[in-house]
Amino acid sequence: MQYDHIVVRYGELTLKGQNRKLFINQLAKNVRQALRSFAAIQINKTRDRMYIVLNGEDPDAIMKRCQTIFGIHDMSLAMKVRNDEEAIKEAGLQLLKDKEGVRTFKVTTKRSNKDFPITSQQFNHVLGGHLLINTDGITVDVHEPDLEITVDIRKEATFLTSDKVIGAAGLPVGSSGKSLLLLSGGIDSPVAGYLTMKRGVEIEAIHFHSPPYTSERAKEKVLDLAEKLAYYGHSVRVHLVPFTALQQKIHREIPHGYSMTVMRRMMMRISEAVAKQEGILSLVTGESLGQVASQTMESMHAINAVTSYPVIRPLVTMDKKEIIAISESIDMYGISIRPFEDCCTVFVPKQPKTKPKLEKVEQMEALIDVEQDIQDVIEAVETVTIKAKEGETNALDELF
Ligand code: ATP
Ligand code: MG
Repeated sequence: MQYDHIVVRYGELTLKGQNRKLFINQLAKNVRQALRSFAAIQINKTRDRMYIVLNGEDPDAIMKRCQTIFGIHDMSLAMKVRNDEEAIKEAGLQLLKDKEGVRTFKVTTKRSNKDFPITSQQFNHVLGGHLLINTDGITVDVHEPDLEITVDIRKEATFLTSDKVIGAAGLPVGSSGKSLLLLSGGIDSPVAGYLTMKRGVEIEAIHFHSPPYTSERAKEKVLDLAEKLAYYGHSVRVHLVPFTALQQKIHREIPHGYSMTVMRRMMMRISEAVAKQEGILSLVTGESLGQVASQTMESMHAINAVTSYPVIRPLVTMDKKEIIAISESIDMYGISIRPFEDCCTVFVPKQPKTKPKLEKVEQMEALIDVEQDIQDVIEAVETVTIKAKEGETNALDELF
């Protein structure tokens, strides 16, 4: 007998009261989408778990792909058998024998089907006894067993599972609305996008580039990062903003100490306008407090003042080391460190003000008329949709 199912447990979803159904439907949709290349599988969802019926598809490959789907707390390979004592015993023995190197085991029975005539406690003994009689040198250890066999006796059938594989946790992408991620080619913003998606948020991205100062390769790098993000959802739309003319104007007309602050404020304004156009209600950035001149408290205050949209900053309190650890664990670091210029680094002044004053920035901006420039930029935005590659696997370390 072989594993024929994967049991998927929701974890945090179980706390979500009346929204639960929506969350479960979203998760099922995401699982279906992520596993679309496994044509034979079926997905059955119940209130507290989901069953993936394998129908002969590769269980290990499916488990691996499922480990990158947010909203899954943990999973187990499972055998489904009839609610019949002998059938369960036979499957339990098979499960134990198939596992190599097991010296000790424990049986845990859960009987939600009260029509089944044997209580959970009794059944632990029934199956435990059967396993002891039919194996050599294997004993019971209820505290630290090598193998725990879980017998879940439900209305429709009994499911036997052993090892639990930890999932990506979080909430299903799409269950918490949508955000617009300011995506550079750096290390931080892709991680910020990933962490936001982990809270169930679908992501669109906006990227500012300044050809010919920034190259085609720099743009490709951003699209490659978007593709990695798409792996955690279905796809990511990327809005590419031609920023050259506006940056040149800022460079020309704003005192250099303040040009970086003004440029950031323009990025925020344009991002908010694109978000509004797309019906998106919040922005995400990879800012981390104190990391660079644009991320001091004063800078954040001056930059943030141009938008009333919520700005999600998942990295705001993180150290660079922590951010890099996540970036590596989700396979993005290698792309982020490719040596291509970003529009912000091309035009960044030698000594940007680290403590810009809001009133001063506003006065300076009042002297240049940028309304039309912003409008022109927004009209020239090019949007591409990036899909996750089929068969791609992102390594997910056990960080969470
Ligand atoms: P990152 O590693 O994400 O580039 P960073 O530490 O280099 O971040 P900054 O360059 O100051 O920091 O950028 C702060 C944030 O502004 C970024 O995390 C990103 O959200 C946004 N940002 C910077 N440059 C761009 C860009 N060219 N297009 C879109 N967003 C950008
Ligand atoms: Mg950067």
